[in-house]
Amino acid sequence: MRTRIQVAGVVLLTAALAWLGLYSGRGDGRVPAIWWANAALVSVMLLDAAGRQPSPDRASSASPAASRRRLWPLLLAAGYVGNLIAHLAVHDPLSQVFTLSACDIGESAIAAYGVGFALRDGVDLTEQLQLLQFVAFAVLLGPLVASFAAGLILHWLVGSSMMVSLRWFPPSALGMSVIPPLVLGLARRDTWELFGRGRLYHTLLYLVVIAAATTLIFSRSEFALFFLILPPLLFLVVRLGLSGGALGCCVVAAIGTAFTIGPHLRPLSRVDPGLEHRILMLQMFLATAVLSFSVVGVVLADLQRTSRRLRESESRYRTLAASLEMLASLDSLTQVANRRRFDEALENEWERALRGESALSLILFDADYFKAFNDRYGHLAGDECLRKIAVCMKESARRPADLVARFGGEEFGIVLPDTAAEGAFAVAENLRRKVEELAFSHAASPTGKVTLSGGVATVVPGPVMSPTDLVNAADDALYDAKRKGRNRVEVAAFR
Ligand code: GH3
Ligand code: MG
Ligand code: MG
Repeated sequence: MRTRIQVAGVVLLTAALAWLGLYSGRGDGRVPAIWWANAALVSVMLLDAAGRQPSPDRASSASPAASRRRLWPLLLAAGYVGNLIAHLAVHDPLSQVFTLSACDIGESAIAAYGVGFALRDGVDLTEQLQLLQFVAFAVLLGPLVASFAAGLILHWLVGSSMMVSLRWFPPSALGMSVIPPLVLGLARRDTWELFGRGRLYHTLLYLVVIAAATTLIFSRSEFALFFLILPPLLFLVVRLGLSGGALGCCVVAAIGTAFTIGPHLRPLSRVDPGLEHRILMLQMFLATAVLSFSVVGVVLADLQRTSRRLRESESRYRTLAASLEMLASLDSLTQVANRRRFDEALENEWERALRGESALSLILFDADYFKAFNDRYGHLAGDECLRKIAVCMKESARRPADLVARFGGEEFGIVLPDTAAEGAFAVAENLRRKVEELAFSHAASPTGKVTLSGGVATVVPGPVMSPTDLVNAADDALYDAKRKGRNRVEVAAFR
């Protein structure tokens, strides 16, 4: 069903656009300023391929690219029928109806197959390589071959001069350079954002400015003024991207064509009565406009891609650096801070306490009879026990500035900034009890379970003291606790 609608749509579209071209075209071979039909057909083909998933049929030997293009012959046939209808409608002789329509379809085929060759995802004309491929096949080769064939055919059929080829080429090439970029651009999500709430007003404003400038320029008789349209057009590309530029170009082409060949609106005819000359000037102007907006559009898109990639790699780098920093400061066994981080934190907190004349406390813990624990239960069980103790420690030192670290082997240190001796003792005692309540079996210990001994030291740092003094004091208190029978906390007599 979808295919039938698509085919019927292509017949109608090409018939209407080709009729428009033939109707507005003048002279031998009926060539207008810009030929829309072939370019519209190419756009439909490329869009169809981009939106089509490769066939999941494994038995089919077709490549994904080929399976995306499987409707193309049908679309070309529909385009051929559309062209036939248009030629018939303007009462062309039958011999020309069939042959010239074939030239048009040949042009679309060269363009679409040339661009869509090895098409994996949708065509993105802001990619330099794809744009080159597009220019080579759609803008140059397709129109060149078709115009040469049409010239030969008309020469053979009606004896017209080969100059027809020269007249055929520019409108075809122009159609190809404006329509597919516009249609493919409009098919992209980011282009629709131009018409979303918030941006619609700006987009319309730019288009109205372009339309007004075009009307102003084309309604006057001086051809030199034509080039004044370029700055607003380039501005449009900078603000709205490549498809915005193509949209602007269409506005310019429509208004320019109306003024150039419209029966009531042709001030240029007063100074230049040759219609063909005027059409040629319009074509030259449009070609310049298309070239300029394409170059600027591609460079801009490239810049945006590069800066997006830069932003992505910068954020990846930041994440990596943060996790490296984390890794470098974590103890791998217990997942609390390691000794390096402990030293750093103690140094920093010391400086802060010195400046703020506040109390800084340090608790050192040591697991009791831990060598015996290892000897009895094995090192892996010892590791597991250390992990459990670390979890208890993290749960007990809850203030954001508190730092729990593995000081060494089975020893832990807790830095408690802005904490007086009583508070630090309470934290230490609470923790000691918690580990005792864990009731981690330790048959080689007099208590029958894993216990901790702790030493607490508190100081309001002064200029002649150093963090090492605080560590030594806590260490002394810890050994005091060991000496007094273990599973207890002692406070250093340290001022
Ligand atoms: P005390 O009550 O006097 O502290 O006796 P202790 O046996 O705990 O003290 P000692 O210093 O003699 O032994 C400490 C033990 O801690 C020795 C070592 O096997 C153990 N240990 C140190 N680091 C680790 C570790 O990462 N994993 C395990 N399983 N054991 C460790
Ligand atoms: Mg020890
Ligand atoms: Mg020990």
